[in-house]
Amino acid sequence: MSAAHLWASQSTCFGWPFFFLPRRVSMTVMTILIRLALGGACFGLPVLCAAAQPGPIDPQQIRADVKYLSSDLLEGRGVGTRGGDLATDYIARQLAAAGAKPAAADGTYFQKVPLVGITTQPETKLTATAGGKTVDFKLLDELVGIDTSQREKTEFDADAVFVGHGITAPEWKWDDFKGVDVKGKVLVLFTNEPTSDYPKFFDGRALTYYGRWVYKYEEGLRRGARAVLIIHTTPTAGYGWEVVRGSWAREMPYVKLAAGESALSLTGWLSREAGDKMLALAGKSVDELLAASEKADFRPIELGIRFHGKMVSRLRELDTRNVAGLIEGSDPKLKSEVVVYTAHWDHLGIGTPVNGDSIYNGAIDNATGCGIVLELARAWAALPAKPRRSALFLFVTAEEGGLKGSEYYAHHPLIPAAKTAIDLNFDAVPPWGRAKQVTIGGAERIDVLPLAENVAKRLKLEIQPDARPEQGHYFRSDHFSFARAGVPAFSIGLGTEFDGKPAGYGQRMWEQYNKLDYHHPSDEYREDWDFTADAQAAEFGFILGGDIANQDKLPDWRAGDQFHRQ
Ligand SMILES: [Zn+2]
Repeated sequence: MSAAHLWASQSTCFGWPFFFLPRRVSMTVMTILIRLALGGACFGLPVLCAAAQPGPIDPQQIRADVKYLSSDLLEGRGVGTRGGDLATDYIARQLAAAGAKPAAADGTYFQKVPLVGITTQPETKLTATAGGKTVDFKLLDELVGIDTSQREKTEFDADAVFVGHGITAPEWKWDDFKGVDVKGKVLVLFTNEPTSDYPKFFDGRALTYYGRWVYKYEEGLRRGARAVLIIHTTPTAGYGWEVVRGSWAREMPYVKLAAGESALSLTGWLSREAGDKMLALAGKSVDELLAASEKADFRPIELGIRFHGKMVSRLRELDTRNVAGLIEGSDPKLKSEVVVYTAHWDHLGIGTPVNGDSIYNGAIDNATGCGIVLELARAWAALPAKPRRSALFLFVTAEEGGLKGSEYYAHHPLIPAAKTAIDLNFDAVPPWGRAKQVTIGGAERIDVLPLAENVAKRLKLEIQPDARPEQGHYFRSDHFSFARAGVPAFSIGLGTEFDGKPAGYGQRMWEQYNKLDYHHPSDEYREDWDFTADAQAAEFGFILGGDIANQDKLPDWRAGDQFHRQ
């Protein structure tokens, strides 16, 4: 659908060209739309034509986007593949049709993202030696790891030091390093956070970023370590070794290092059994070190073990891109600032066949988010009078490889972080009917929470709290790359309750999805899906984004939050 066609089919309501309304929507949304169009002031206009007029967000349009983006033609939208190019071409065409301007630096819709795919080769070897005894580790069964220095071969010899959970968190008065220099060392540690000594520390049951394994590698790199090895235990990781093994056995994308940029020669995991085998060289055990790492007076322990590593990797340059379109705001000054909407376009591409199907279509994950953000661009473009700030519609690459497209964007933003009001992200919003609830985990960290609560009320949606805060969902989606750059950010999703469905319907559907379809070739488009819920998530983001674009101040983090504007 082209912009010209849209304008030609417009209908006039109070003189507003509400042409985007071949669609159905509630009176509330219509009123809010008018309010948005008037720059945030509520004029309380009678919504005379709302009943007869369709609304701004069209579930059928989202359906069409999802159907195309998850079709076999796009071969699972792998990073650096033909299917990925087709997907990003489609998104750019849709942005152009909506009337969003190309937002990349070169005047196109595409921000090139230079990635290197790294696959650890079977020749990789790691040994640990102490007191004349040497043990080695069987790749995949006992050890997984990546040489992040992006070289085909790296060898290292370095002493091991155990650093507990590897956390330095001034706001929790916790420091596992105690000033000990670990330059050039192999850090051995556990993932997650200490729990027993200070149950109220680190946000209690909720996992903080300090508990995430990614943080451990980052902290090791900041301290000049040579390598970081996490000893896996099911309680600390929250999942079994087979999950670690499965996710580290394949090619991993990394943002290409700049000249002279340092990196760890090994970011890896040892299985619990391999950890015990290695620690036995030092007369220690996993249980003993786990107990030691729970204490606030913990100090790093020199293990007297020397590691020898020979890392062999296959490297592949990945030619990929983020897609970005901009719709300018109406305020001459504030339009240099943006509300960002994000969704990752990539999925897993073609992989191991399951029941004869090798295309990992990624319909829910995350063609749905793409459909929602495209529809947001159309709805925003359709507003006859734009909100004061601009809106950026950003489709990021390589989320499945660890948020790499959004990480690259955060380091190379098209609009500076200081001028970015918020990032509202959509990742896997299932088309399961009319939702009763939204989820906005992380919004409580930001001063726009009351605004979001108000939007929920207007749309007659409940806000469902995070049922599993220990899983650290906030750190696992693209909005998090923005948070790390200091930009307030969260994802908008759906809760577990749906209209006309038994209680807990969404919960059961998620369980089934996670078991059968999540990251499987069977995450495929279905004709019987009802995209009302996706339209609701889009409406929520539309109104909230509009309110934020219109308010005087930029949103900010609540005082004392781990993240803050930089
Ligand atoms: Zn995924």
